[in-house]
Amino acid sequence: MTQSPLLKPNLIARLQPDSWLANVCRSIKCERTLLLGVPYIGRFAPSPSGQLHQGSLIAALASYLHARWHGGTWLVRMEDVDTTRCKREYGDHQIQTLRQLGFIFDEPVWQSTRDVIYQAEFDRLKRLGAIYPCTCTRRDIGDGIYQGTCRNGHAVNKPIRSWRFRVGDDVINWQDENGTQRQEQLMQSVGDFVVKRVIDEQHHEWTYQFAVVVDDALQQISHIVRGADLIDSTARQIALQRALGYPTLVYSHFPLLTNEQGEKLSKSGQAPTLDMLKGLEALQHAWVFLGGLPIQANYLEAFWAAVGVKQKT
Ligand SMILES: [Zn+2]
Repeated sequence: MTQSPLLKPNLIARLQPDSWLANVCRSIKCERTLLLGVPYIGRFAPSPSGQLHQGSLIAALASYLHARWHGGTWLVRMEDVDTTRCKREYGDHQIQTLRQLGFIFDEPVWQSTRDVIYQAEFDRLKRLGAIYPCTCTRRDIGDGIYQGTCRNGHAVNKPIRSWRFRVGDDVINWQDENGTQRQEQLMQSVGDFVVKRVIDEQHHEWTYQFAVVVDDALQQISHIVRGADLIDSTARQIALQRALGYPTLVYSHFPLLTNEQGEKLSKSGQAPTLDMLKGLEALQHAWVFLGGLPIQANYLEAFWAAVGVKQKT
């Protein structure tokens, strides 16, 4: 691993002391020791359901800085399993935007091309008895926690609508990189959750939870850096990792971009897309949002140098 070009004390001086980024920066030393030979591989995994917006740029920058400050590799993965919402052209546009802004990464992986891989891991879960077919409709289940109706066998006269992961009654403990301890008993919080949706005899869809766990493991991701809206997914992902014999990863969740009402800014909401903001301005905004002090930079290279990222590989 190579050290970032800016020394840590110089970087710390550019950060608000109590910010998420300052905590990341301070943790770099022990993190490197902790890794002990496991290469750092991070990722940014947007859904191509629209153009890149300010919220996703913040997620990209957070995971990019985290990876580059640790001397690690940063991957981009297009999470396009939801084929009704996601479009290739949006993904291409997002990739192009990231490259124009100066992010450096290899050719991204597209989840929509990985059906064979997911099927193989699904079959493994099946052989392990960790999943079961469910015939319940959305109306059968309602809004609450799935009650395990099909856990011990499903109605034979109804079509299979999904495959569910059998959660245990154990409590899953995990720690965020910022030190926060979390615990969750999946049986109480979500119940047996869906890994595969069956649309008809020819069509199926992998769920976010399942695809992300398989990809993180097969891409040898070591660190997950993402928004706090995904904290609630972590216990489910750890449960799947354990069932599949994958390692558990380092998790770091940064605070979310919200509007004045405290609502998350998303693609469907009023989040400005990056076309509405100038690239450098958008990056500066993301940097300040994550806890950086404002930087005087008139061009992209100057911005990246100021935030401790060497642009030439
Ligand atoms: Zn069911």
